[in-house]
Amino acid sequence: MRILAIHAHPDDLEIFAGGTLALLAARDHSLAIVTMTPGDCGTSEYGPEEISEIRRREAAASAVLIGANYRCAEFRDLAIFSDDPSRRRVCEILRRARPDLVITAPPVDYLCDHERTSELVRDACFIAPAPNYRTGAEDAAPPLEAIPHLYFADPEGGTDYDGVLVVPDFVVDVSSTFQTKWRMLAQHESQRNWLIKHHGVDNYLVMMEELTRARGRLAGIELGEGFRRYKGHPYPQTPLLEELLGPELVVALRG
Ligand SMILES: [Zn+2]
Repeated sequence: MRILAIHAHPDDLEIFAGGTLALLAARDHSLAIVTMTPGDCGTSEYGPEEISEIRRREAAASAVLIGANYRCAEFRDLAIFSDDPSRRRVCEILRRARPDLVITAPPVDYLCDHERTSELVRDACFIAPAPNYRTGAEDAAPPLEAIPHLYFADPEGGTDYDGVLVVPDFVVDVSSTFQTKWRMLAQHESQRNWLIKHHGVDNYLVMMEELTRARGRLAGIELGEGFRRYKGHPYPQTPLLEELLGPELVVALRG
């Protein structure tokens, strides 16, 4: 299977889906990791080009740990908009990756970049098989054969704007890949000082572990990552991600 994991910033996929991506990679699925931006505003120490270069390197080093390819879509922080040119760019990313399965940001989350990423990816999945939809890219890739399966990762903190729990459809047991998830996120060393200063987070690795433990607790396991399958018509509704992982690693929370 070809899997595309696409989220807003370098480190988001590691935090919300790193253990699951490591599980999929270990099963020899082809895995492409894309961030919409290079995280150009995630610093108070470096200029935008400098931090972007650092963070692209960090994201690539993280992807290499599970044998995934990494690329940045080169949008910019807090400047992702769900508009016509952006949708065509994201559609071209999909057509080049040709995924059977897409994992992206949730539709409701704490930051506009996450929400716009979710929206752009959802709509690009819908339109990518349509031959009359042209991306305008040089050497444009052909349309997809079909709409890929679409899954949303957890929001930050596992809650909506009001702090209300967002219950995933299912939680993936990532106990066996948690060390890999930790090592992947640890590649994003540039974020340590930034998250202390701007987010008041003592240690971003510990914060990630707390989130992973909290999602695990929902399912009665130690360490977990939650996902929801997009239920919109006419996206495929067979449980592909659950099947790829297998019943021993998937705890269903909602029908
Ligand atoms: Zn983010």
